[in-house]
Amino acid sequence: MKPRVMEISIDPGTPSWTNPILSFLRDGTVPKDRQEAMKLRRKASRYTLVDGILYKRSFSLPLLWCLNPYEAEYALREVHEGVCGSHMGARTLAHKVLRQGYYWPNMYKDATHFVQRCLKCQFFAHLTHQPAEELTTLVAPWPFAQWGLDLLGPFVKGVGGVTHVIVGVDYFIKWVEARPLSSLTSKKIEDFVFGSIICRYGIPNQIVADNGPQFNCTSFRDFCSSYGIKLQFTSVYHPESNGMVESVSKCILEGIKPRLEQHKAKWADKLNNVLWAYRTTSRTATGETPYHLAFGTEAVIPIEIGVPSFRVTHFDEGRNGQLLRENLDLLDDLREEARLRTLVYKQKIANFYNKRVRPRSFKVGDLVLRKAGLTGFETRFGKLAPNWEAPTLSLKCHTQVLISCGTLKANEFPESGISIT
Ligand SMILES: [Zn+2]
Repeated sequence: MKPRVMEISIDPGTPSWTNPILSFLRDGTVPKDRQEAMKLRRKASRYTLVDGILYKRSFSLPLLWCLNPYEAEYALREVHEGVCGSHMGARTLAHKVLRQGYYWPNMYKDATHFVQRCLKCQFFAHLTHQPAEELTTLVAPWPFAQWGLDLLGPFVKGVGGVTHVIVGVDYFIKWVEARPLSSLTSKKIEDFVFGSIICRYGIPNQIVADNGPQFNCTSFRDFCSSYGIKLQFTSVYHPESNGMVESVSKCILEGIKPRLEQHKAKWADKLNNVLWAYRTTSRTATGETPYHLAFGTEAVIPIEIGVPSFRVTHFDEGRNGQLLRENLDLLDDLREEARLRTLVYKQKIANFYNKRVRPRSFKVGDLVLRKAGLTGFETRFGKLAPNWEAPTLSLKCHTQVLISCGTLKANEFPESGISIT
């Protein structure tokens, strides 16, 4: 049988905290310093020798066996990761060792240090859901200047082989455009941006999209730069940072689902209804409907035909034209009000979000672990997969955001574990 080597990093010959007490209890040896001698006498009154072994009188158990640093390291390792160890946390570890009848000073501190340096505990540590930095809110400077793009799907194949929906949302007035797609090529995305955004609302200043291959590719980059559009991507690890588009996509999905009943393949037919509903419903952020902010007046919706509204029953072409022109004159004021309301709303959200922030900072050379799963790492292990990937070395950092990291070679792994950062 291959002999098992126990990793002990402390030399057994290291001076132990037990030595002065043992000497005093065995033959009354005290330090020359009077104060130190008094201290030792007082301290030793809580200890006793039984068959040459030092015990501490305890509150929880009759006697606790006092361990030297060498034995303490062994006790922690055995209880934490031995045959009946469960890689428990520091507090449980310290309590378990204590309940087994062992003692040394600073048990909890040593247990904490030990658990922090356990590699397995770090690879399988819970994922951190608290944000590392404060929320950055985006407010577009003018209508139709900044659009967010997102893909919804896959859905059941509909008429024309459509399986996905491309959604575009204006950041200022929350106007939404969407189109069903049969394939996710950059050409289809370009057609949508050109036909549904550029030709209708002018050339935007900026487009924000996630890192999908349809957006983050040479063809779409070239398309955007040919119109002078700035293309920005959200982080691979934080696709939800394009929050507004994500929430509109969710609204569209929730609008389609209840309309389908048994005919799920007809989802594309319902898209226009959902878009109409979205555009004519007031948004919490702006306090206005996207339609009102876009055209200065509200759209006529079916209820005004079913139960005729005042403007429908008293329609006068000349008067209507005049009112529309007046509304257009007041449109800038309306948009300014909506902008201010949006700022207040976003500030409220930021205040709520920022309460949960737990700052974490990195510097070049820090040893860090990367969240597993997002890059397809170890997916073959399913539920048994570690939560964190192998240690990597941070190369580029910007305040609290880790921009990139490199992988350590096998011989560069730290011998005694690393600390989570
Ligand atoms: Zn562990």
